[in-house]
Amino acid sequence: KTAGRSTHTVFIPEMMEDNKRKLLIANSIASAIKNDEFVVYYQGKVSPNETTVGYEALLRWSSDSLGFVSPAEFIPIAEQSGKILPITKWVLERVCKDFKQLCSLNDSEVTISVNLSAYDIKNLQLVNYIKNLFKKYSVEPRLIEFEVTESAYLENLDMANEFLTQLRDIGSSVALDDFGTGYSSLGYLTQINLNTLKIDKQFVDNLNVSERSTLITKTIIEMAKQLKLQICAEGVETREQAAFLIESGCHQLQGFLFAKPTSLELLLKEKEQLVDL
Ligand code: C2E
Ligand code: CA
Ligand code: CA
Ligand code: CA
Repeated sequence: KTAGRSTHTVFIPEMMEDNKRKLLIANSIASAIKNDEFVVYYQGKVSPNETTVGYEALLRWSSDSLGFVSPAEFIPIAEQSGKILPITKWVLERVCKDFKQLCSLNDSEVTISVNLSAYDIKNLQLVNYIKNLFKKYSVEPRLIEFEVTESAYLENLDMANEFLTQLRDIGSSVALDDFGTGYSSLGYLTQINLNTLKIDKQFVDNLNVSERSTLITKTIIEMAKQLKLQICAEGVETREQAAFLIESGCHQLQGFLFAKPTSLELLLKEKEQLVDL
């Protein structure tokens, strides 16, 4: 009715079900944080010689009422319902608490990457929150990388730049996530202050599908090299993809071929078993 007389909306049962689930998810987020239903998993990133050079923090939610819910489903709902900030803060604190143990997993230095939502970076106070966490848990800022998507820049470029410049001022680095999947990607690259470009899985999947799609992926990598950016390819699943990406000049590779997102507990256990050998 609120849409006016001349329009009418058709409701089909699936839409009702879909909205019900969305509402249920949105309304379960606060208690999920309170009841410790969230867990952060870590997925390794490797250099071309397959040394682990970092881990990406990926959130997992095993809900008491809904069962396992994928972040691909609940993160957008949290964003739309204004509930992403408490999730982000929770992830940031968890990562800082885990930082020392994550560093202990490898002999060489690793960088821990945290995903930030486009909604998060509208809030400059979050930078202070991050600074305080780093201090509280003795986290070296230069070993933390923040991954943001293009949509973070879409709405307000100046604001996004301000937020991310402040993060870089404290010594952390910034990666542009899911590169090439959004709008007017190329325009942003000249206007934003980045360390790393993450080549989206879609471009990795398209390798060897056709000559044209391979060429596009190669061109993106070439352009990132010219811009002096670090390049990380995500979603690497086959040896052929890895070989091509290394040959093209990617600095980091991430994907099921090398490591799946894993709990810290299991990563520590695996490390222990290696030492025992
Ligand atoms: P993303 O940041 O692009 O993360 C990469 C996704 O690809 C992850 O899915 C990861 O598990 C998956 N992946 C990695 N390697 C492979 C591979 O070789 N093959 C396949 N098929 N998949 C691979 P996940 O963990 O389900 O996360 C989905 C999305 O949810 C993330 O996409 C990110 O946008 C969002 N997300 C996850 N955790 C957080 C978080 O803590 N904060 C925010 N704001 N977003 C998060
Ligand atoms: Ca990411
Ligand atoms: Ca990504
Ligand atoms: Ca992606």
